[in-house]
Amino acid sequence: MNSRYRGRFAPTPSGPLHFGSLVAAVGSYVDARANQGAWLLRIEDLDTPRNVAGALDTILRQLEACALLWDEQIVYQSRRVSLYQAALEQLRASGQVFACACSRKEIADSSVLGIEGPIYPGTCRAGVTAGRSARTWRMRVSAQSIRAVDLLQGEHLQNLEVEVGDFVVQRADGIFAYQLTVVVDDAAQGITRVVRGADLLYSTARQMWLQRALRLVTPEYLHLPVALGDRGTKLSKQTFAPAIDATHASAAVGKALRFLGHAPPDALNGAAPRDLLAWAVEHWNLARVPAARAVPVAE
Ligand code: GLU
Repeated sequence: MNSRYRGRFAPTPSGPLHFGSLVAAVGSYVDARANQGAWLLRIEDLDTPRNVAGALDTILRQLEACALLWDEQIVYQSRRVSLYQAALEQLRASGQVFACACSRKEIADSSVLGIEGPIYPGTCRAGVTAGRSARTWRMRVSAQSIRAVDLLQGEHLQNLEVEVGDFVVQRADGIFAYQLTVVVDDAAQGITRVVRGADLLYSTARQMWLQRALRLVTPEYLHLPVALGDRGTKLSKQTFAPAIDATHASAAVGKALRFLGHAPPDALNGAAPRDLLAWAVEHWNLARVPAARAVPVAE
């Protein structure tokens, strides 16, 4: 195994894997193995209100049925809260985060819309007004452009101040936000290349901004196209995409490989997932993966 490349798959146990999440799992697995790399599994189970009972076991069974076998111990974010707390303290000590007393409604009423919701109007940037109490911690952003060069999607420029605003790193319910935890864990696990769905392309600039603030290394990024269902909507738990059927794992893996521009040869029709993946690892070529943000799923 090449000791340098470390990739990962980081599902949230809010439901079983569906075709969209399987594409991210297959793409990150094959890319890692084609580069003689390690492939780690991280369960992003911090957002407890979103966790669904039984989903974690189902995801593990689905991955095993698809022969997507991970290296090392599974990492559970719910057991790593002290790491996120330490990162927040580091940001606090260097003045890069501020306490914020604003409610969602106050922000919505006094802001313009950015690429992912309202842009924080800056109310608490210089301190919380006397008599009000802090609810969240927000990361300060600046007006400089952040440049991400994605291995598939190309160059992506984002001005955090104009397009996103100061963003939450610890929520009002005390839960650490995805943007902070993903950065802490990718660094702690020594991830060298993040391969995931292009719905997270816009998050990359926030993650790079946090990496700079925490003096962490920025990994390479490769955002795979998102799978679109019938009506052009992203296949997701929210749109009730069906769960991957572990008893039809071969068909599911074959379909994910076709979606990623790597249709296995006819001779492998009905082959075991392990053999389909071995073929893909041998033939993996990023130039064949559609360089699009989203692609409709062909039946
Ligand atoms: N947990 C995230 C999800 O399920 C993925 C995070 C990532 O790959 O950076 O969408």
